[in-house]
Amino acid sequence: MSAETLEFQVEARQLLQLVIHSIYSNKDVFLRELVSNASDALDKLRLAALRDDALGVDTSDLHIELAADPEARTLTVRDNGIGMSHDEVIQLIGTIANSGTAKFVQELKEAKDAKDSSAAENLIGQFGVGFYSSFMVADEVELVTRKAGEEHGTRWTSSGAGTYSLERVEEAPQGTSVTLKLRPADSDDQLHDYTAAWKIREIVKKYSDFITWPIRLQQETPEASAEPVNSMKALWARSRDEVSDEEYHELYKHISHDWLDPLEVVRLQAEGTFEYQALLFIPSHAPHDLYTQGYQRGVQLYVKRVFVMDDCEALMPPYLRFVKGVVDAADLSLNVSREILQQDRQIQLMRRRLAKKILATVKDLRAGDPEKYATLWREFGRVIKEGLLSDFDNRDAILTAASFASTHDAEQPTSLAQYVERMKEGQQHIYYLTGESRQSVEHSPHLEAFRAKGVEVLLLTDPVDELWVEAVPEFDGKQLRSVAKGELELDGETDQEQQEDREQRKQEFAALLGWMTEQLGAEVKEVRLSARLTVSPACVVTDTNDASPALEAMYRAMGQ
Ligand code: ADP
Ligand code: MG
Repeated sequence: MSAETLEFQVEARQLLQLVIHSIYSNKDVFLRELVSNASDALDKLRLAALRDDALGVDTSDLHIELAADPEARTLTVRDNGIGMSHDEVIQLIGTIANSGTAKFVQELKEAKDAKDSSAAENLIGQFGVGFYSSFMVADEVELVTRKAGEEHGTRWTSSGAGTYSLERVEEAPQGTSVTLKLRPADSDDQLHDYTAAWKIREIVKKYSDFITWPIRLQQETPEASAEPVNSMKALWARSRDEVSDEEYHELYKHISHDWLDPLEVVRLQAEGTFEYQALLFIPSHAPHDLYTQGYQRGVQLYVKRVFVMDDCEALMPPYLRFVKGVVDAADLSLNVSREILQQDRQIQLMRRRLAKKILATVKDLRAGDPEKYATLWREFGRVIKEGLLSDFDNRDAILTAASFASTHDAEQPTSLAQYVERMKEGQQHIYYLTGESRQSVEHSPHLEAFRAKGVEVLLLTDPVDELWVEAVPEFDGKQLRSVAKGELELDGETDQEQQEDREQRKQEFAALLGWMTEQLGAEVKEVRLSARLTVSPACVVTDTNDASPALEAMYRAMGQ
């Protein structure tokens, strides 16, 4: 078969252009990305071989090899892992699957056009460009791969400019090798000489030390290559004080494909009948696709150090889908399927325990590191609140961990406990108002009477707020009450005099109210005098048990 030339998918092409025109200052990370891919490929092969005897591959010496040629100015990263088929190469290397890509590329372009390099760096960091980061240091990349169990291999070459070539290779070793034709080392020292053994060692130690496969540096004399550059220690199996934060952070980047450090590291060791170790990470930012259908939640599952699956959704409830990490269980079969995991009682217990641990961490951060907590809640509060609808066990833990905007302070959100502390003498309820934005709720006439009396109101503007307020009856014995619903009795104003006063006014306005009810007809249930307004002449309210206007709008949007 002759060579074929194919075009990169549009987003991939645009992304490559941005990568080539160097917007990321730390170029060393390209090696981390290639090693990370090689390590994944080895994990996949080992698992495939364990599950399928017929695969017939040699797994006795799975490893990653780095080979530099200073004369030719090339660096090769080679693995004897799972490899890719011809079609997989097109699919995995020629396109970007991430659903947020188009938007991301646009933002990146804008940052670059505005010469805002720190914004561009931050964006790349949030997205991570994986394999394409090779083009930060190379002007040509060749990938030769053969998938385990297949006969022929595929050669892929590209200079990153719009197209790539594919060619069948009759004899290729199983696995993948990526060879970079390095650009000349530049004078401002951003581009190092990546053919220098010391430099390669330094980068591997720094970014890939925890990789559990041997990473060998091939040197001029073959026998010198025996000793791996990395120490290969599974970080989750080591005690906390043996591992530095940097090591944890690099593991996080490997498993999450994020380029930024995580916000928090959470460890859990369970002993007893069902033993497992968990090393979990709370990211420092929400991914682009957190709210999309295809978002892959869950953490990696290992069984006794052997990788079993990515995105194991059975290990995390949906509302904690942003949590990344590793769970290593002692007593599971390597053949375990997603379906079996979903139904396994031990796994359900594990998920409960992990969820509790994450929520406890959020709570501790609030007290111990308010700044981190604020970032966490800003990025993930919306998702965590979904748990109020699904995780009844942890409802109180979620309410305790949560923050809400409130009329008490224009800037600082409040906890429910703080709200309760500030409640007025005689106030029995926790008041809230839902709406689309802080601005729109701030100007709502529903707030007038509360403002006048100095009663605090929570301002809830996330779509999920509409739902959970209906489902959560109370916090700390105080009912949650919408200020936009039903008859308003601001606590403490039920005395005799006011009652009589109201009755009298009702009589006075009876004719007007009757006329208005008639005019509005089926549009409203009832027109009545209100104690909730001080400035506005009228407002629309719903019955205590009816859906709020925003919720109605949401149902309508969903076609119900
Ligand atoms: P990511 O690792 O985040 O998925 P990459 O751009 O690094 O993104 O890689 C894209 C995909 O290409 C990988 O998910 C993997 O399926 C495939 N791939 C890359 N390198 C290798 C390799 N050495 N062996 C097998 N597959 C690979
Ligand atoms: Mg990768």
